[in-house]
Amino acid sequence: MECAGPDHPINRNQRAWKYAFVGYALGMRTDYHMHTPLCGHAIGAPRDYVLAAKRMELGEIGFSDHNPMPTQFDNWRMAPDQLPHYVQMVREVQEEFPDYPIRLGLECDYLPNYEGYIEYLATQAEWDYLIGSVHYVTPDWDIDNPKHLKRWDEQPVEEIWQAYFDAYTKMVESCLFDFLAHPDLVKKFGHRPEGDLSRFYKGTLDAIAEAGAVLEVSTAGLRKDVREIYPSRDFLVAAHLRNIPIVINSDAHSPKEVAADFDLAYTLARDVGYREVMMFKGRKAIPVAIS
Ligand code: ZN
Ligand code: FE
Ligand code: FE
Ligand code: ZN
Repeated sequence: MECAGPDHPINRNQRAWKYAFVGYALGMRTDYHMHTPLCGHAIGAPRDYVLAAKRMELGEIGFSDHNPMPTQFDNWRMAPDQLPHYVQMVREVQEEFPDYPIRLGLECDYLPNYEGYIEYLATQAEWDYLIGSVHYVTPDWDIDNPKHLKRWDEQPVEEIWQAYFDAYTKMVESCLFDFLAHPDLVKKFGHRPEGDLSRFYKGTLDAIAEAGAVLEVSTAGLRKDVREIYPSRDFLVAAHLRNIPIVINSDAHSPKEVAADFDLAYTLARDVGYREVMMFKGRKAIPVAIS
């Protein structure tokens, strides 16, 4: 299996071309994971996220609200008939801020048997990128939803972690997405198996490397019970050893979260050995130097 990711020969050529033409926009930071009130659990108008991004001196941003599902799946996403409205909202801020690059993305839930629906969504707008996320470890358990917290007492932590990373690996192998969100979201509430956790990461990381996919480093975990960046340092070290490219995002659900804790995330990435992060446009990944 090989997705046409950034290490794919096609994109390596693309990369050389981009270096030659636009240079290597030194030090520019981006945030491609930002929500809108359409999902029902984010606040702030898109223009307020843009103003916050400018205040934080980001060079480029993108919206990526939770994707609709064909049926009323849960209460934290737009309905299918709201998708055109979402696209319109992003187009409106692009028009309001014509000199500021604002990309159009979508955070898509990966669930077995919904691959065809993601493929359909991919045709519904001129996306700059689609984010793949695993929130569901079973069809009725969104792992980051506090309403299911008691389930952690009913099943061994090892089993839940394994189910999460098995699902994540399947998502990687689907090749449907431009980057992969919050890699170890399963730790959100602080539940962790004993000992060295690399046994959970290895299969997923090998799949990401083989697919040529891009991994998200998310500061959202710092705002959750776990108080830690997604993914853990160990995970990111193992990703860097495999030459897996990264993108650093906030997963902002309010304007004040845009670029939150980016200094910590950029320091972590640099410490681990990363020297560039990826930018996204027209479903192509382009590298930019880490400042
Ligand atoms: Zn959300
Ligand atoms: Fe998510
Ligand atoms: Fe998100
Ligand atoms: Zn998210």
